[in-house]
Amino acid sequence: MTDKRTELSELGEFGLIEKLTSNFTTHVSSTIKGVGDDAAVISISDSEVMLVSTDSLIEGIHFNLMYTPLMHLGYKAVVVNLSDIYAMNGIAEQITVSLAVSNRFPLEALEELYAGIKKACDAYQVDLVGGDTTSSLSGLMISITALGRAKKTDVVYRSGAKENDLLVVSGDLGGAYMGLQLLEREKEVYKANPNIQPDLDGHDYLLERQLKPEARIDIVKLLKQMEVKPTSMIDVSDGLASEIFHLCKASNLGCTIYDEKIPIDGATASSAIEFNIDPITTALNGGEDYELLFTISQSDYEKVVGNPNLSIIGHITEKNSGINFIDKQGVIAPLQAQGWNHFE
Ligand code: ADP
Ligand code: MG
Repeated sequence: MTDKRTELSELGEFGLIEKLTSNFTTHVSSTIKGVGDDAAVISISDSEVMLVSTDSLIEGIHFNLMYTPLMHLGYKAVVVNLSDIYAMNGIAEQITVSLAVSNRFPLEALEELYAGIKKACDAYQVDLVGGDTTSSLSGLMISITALGRAKKTDVVYRSGAKENDLLVVSGDLGGAYMGLQLLEREKEVYKANPNIQPDLDGHDYLLERQLKPEARIDIVKLLKQMEVKPTSMIDVSDGLASEIFHLCKASNLGCTIYDEKIPIDGATASSAIEFNIDPITTALNGGEDYELLFTISQSDYEKVVGNPNLSIIGHITEKNSGINFIDKQGVIAPLQAQGWNHFE
């Protein structure tokens, strides 16, 4: 320790992780990939690896219990972790769950939370195998570690993209962000006047995207069935722009993406317009969509094009071209990534 003081807001989340971990070297030959991908990759046999990923959800930062049912919270806490295993092209098998909980919560509340955790375990066929329980001064913290498995030759890293590869995203983007905006708006209305009932009718899709997201194991299976092995992959937890930066940085390449090709559901778009938000912003800089973003070789184009679950949104370029966004008028500009900076 020195007298120097660097504010975390100067570094941002990813700068901080890099600062803290960059001088660690590996001691063990089974560590194939440590920090820097969606999950760590650990050799367990000649042909197989174990995948390990941890994510925490903190009350007041990641969720607000005013509008998050505990059962949904439990489900989501599992799903966001499984998503990181699928982003490695692996299959999740076990989770551990660690809780820090204040005495504000009765047993019944935590049972609700665990009902949601169980629902996710059943839906994704993973086993709860342990965890930890402690008290907290205030609020609820949930930290989940997911363990998965893959064939060594199947693992897909963030770093594998090649020049001219196509950039593909599953599902649609921005819905979870608009779900959050709706819930926040109704919370403010309720705070101003508790007699007014929340007006969330007709927004089922967006609310579900926010409160009960799903991880795309179906896409991992679909790609296998189509005999497409992505060259690189990441899950979309922080917004498309931020994830594109991660992929390009890890692969040391640039890319070009097209506004008109980015999949945005009609419900997301109309709700964004109602909120005076450009719909594309919800996709680029929203978050929590938990879709998969990946690159494929041009030779796999025919297998992917036209699939209703997949959108080809751009292509990989050499590094010096940078990361570019072409808007609906055809104007090209460098992509801006905000994502979530946890320290701002
Ligand atoms: P994701 O969004 O896919 O969950 P993160 O951005 O949380 O990934 O993490 C990126 C990488 O940094 C991962 O390899 C993760 O394990 C690692 N990481 C994050 N925080 C820490 C930390 N405090 N110490 C060591 N490694 C960390
Ligand atoms: Mg991830």
